[in-house]
Amino acid sequence: MMSFTFRQREQISKRLASEHFDLFIIGGGITGAGIALDASLRGLRAALIEKNDFAFGTSSRSTKLIHGGLRYLKQLEFGLVKEVGSERAIVHKLAPHLVIPEKMLLPLKEGRGFGTLLTSFGLKLYDWLAGVKQIDQRKMLTRQQTLACEPLLKPDGVKGGGLYAEYRTDDARLTLEIMKTAAHNGATVINYVQALRFLYDDKKIARGVEALDVTNGHSFEIKATAIVNATGPWVDELRMLDNSRKGKQLHLTKGVHLVVPRKRLPIKQAIYFDVPDGRMIFAIPRGFTTYIGTTDTDYRDAIDWVSTSHEDADYLLDAVNEAFPSVNLTRSDVLSSWAGLRPLIHEEGKSASELSRKDEIFESASGLLSIAGGKLTGYRKMAERVVDMVIEKYYSSRTLKPCSTDQLAFTGGPFANADAVKRYTEQLASQLRPLQLEQYADYLVHTYGKQSDEILRYMDKLQDESPAMCLVKAELYFTVDHEMVLTALDFFNRRTGMLYFDIHRAIEHREMVLNELKRVFSWDDDRMQRERIALEQAITSATLNH
Ligand code: FAD
Repeated sequence: MMSFTFRQREQISKRLASEHFDLFIIGGGITGAGIALDASLRGLRAALIEKNDFAFGTSSRSTKLIHGGLRYLKQLEFGLVKEVGSERAIVHKLAPHLVIPEKMLLPLKEGRGFGTLLTSFGLKLYDWLAGVKQIDQRKMLTRQQTLACEPLLKPDGVKGGGLYAEYRTDDARLTLEIMKTAAHNGATVINYVQALRFLYDDKKIARGVEALDVTNGHSFEIKATAIVNATGPWVDELRMLDNSRKGKQLHLTKGVHLVVPRKRLPIKQAIYFDVPDGRMIFAIPRGFTTYIGTTDTDYRDAIDWVSTSHEDADYLLDAVNEAFPSVNLTRSDVLSSWAGLRPLIHEEGKSASELSRKDEIFESASGLLSIAGGKLTGYRKMAERVVDMVIEKYYSSRTLKPCSTDQLAFTGGPFANADAVKRYTEQLASQLRPLQLEQYADYLVHTYGKQSDEILRYMDKLQDESPAMCLVKAELYFTVDHEMVLTALDFFNRRTGMLYFDIHRAIEHREMVLNELKRVFSWDDDRMQRERIALEQAITSATLNH
């Protein structure tokens, strides 16, 4: 297996400073990762920098669904539904261990939402636009069937329901596997390097950036023919640096999610329910937890630090308590939470929920291309459009390969299909059983795919106290050696999702992880202290103890 590790940072930095790139991407979320992969597969010399960790921005803070966006049907955005709907099947095929089919229950209530007929037609249209296979197509349910499907639902006013196909994922892992795949296919990719300012030819054409390696304070220049600003919520900040924040601008809206113990909200499957103010909310089971989201409110504060307020949390808790009256969730049930920003495009007179989720590419007078809007689900098509545009503008005379990102499985695969994932999970569970760790088989496969084999190999070499501790250590070593982990939060948040979905495990092993990282990276006491504080702050914020 090729390495993607801090040990290569010096070599990568040298390459960034000395080579001339065909396409240079700023921003290491799903959009940037997708562009880096597409460009390198077509034969372009591509480079990408991310100022924090990969997926630090919105791409680790979504609802974690690869979905067609049923609510966009309500906004009559048929093109968007068709595109993201058909993309679901492609991304599932590329990584069936990471993009997992999930049936979604849509209860229908008297006096709320659309009527039964309209919903039945809407879901049918949704399936048709997305090309859903016959066997997975929507099923309309009677009142009795709906309540049997979800006995926790408040029965008053329930007149029926729909059961339809969606997929769930881990957004940060998806971003990372695409990034690793891009690096394995020749892209020069690095985290913790920030674009500070643009460099111009004749004061007009952006031909590179001055970048700062935030791990050591070194700055250097990166030269390229085409530059893409894929910084999500930061897109306008970069456009301001380029003096080109004109015309359309971003409209940031905040969305939060809460995680509660599965036994406190033991829903039988994912559910998409409406709340008294007319909005729709997801509740999705995941491992030993259920997560709930999201809110959608205008946001004008600092972009680099977004957190869940008590008001956000209460809104979601009230919504759940109204829909499932027997559960009585309170703030003390919240195990963890996260908050993210949607980088939407402003439309005069429209509220947060009404804004389109469509992506758009802006080209500035300096040649800087900025991509904004869009969804996790549509990353591949967004990348294709950007790379097509770059080729048309700069490389029309070069012989380059066509877009092939719909064919290449990511690192972590390939699996032939969901059955192959199931068989692999069973085999892993039997290997973990003698250590009494078989309950982690699902988690490992959905997180690392076949790279779980490598994690077991690390475990074989460890002689530590308990198998549970060895497993965390093995995951840490794997992510340090193969996934460019540089901080404890990279590990607990964006590589493993532990901060959200298994926070007790994160808290139990945080000292071990900090000490191991101190040893591997030779941190001094000051650095160790800063790391500890950053981790504590993240835990305090996620657990709403602020
Ligand atoms: P980001 O992920 O924010 O990446 C931009 C990156 O640029 C950041 O990591 C940032 O650190 C970096 N950066 C900024 N400035 C610089 C600089 N100067 N130098 C270097 N790097 C820089 N979509 C779905 O398909 N399904 C869902 O279920 C879903 N749910 C959502 C729920 C919520 C609450 C939100 C907020 C969004 C949701 N989305 C969903 C939308 C989706 O998450 C986003 O469209 C997508 O993640 C945006 O990715 P991005 O790469 O454009 O931006």
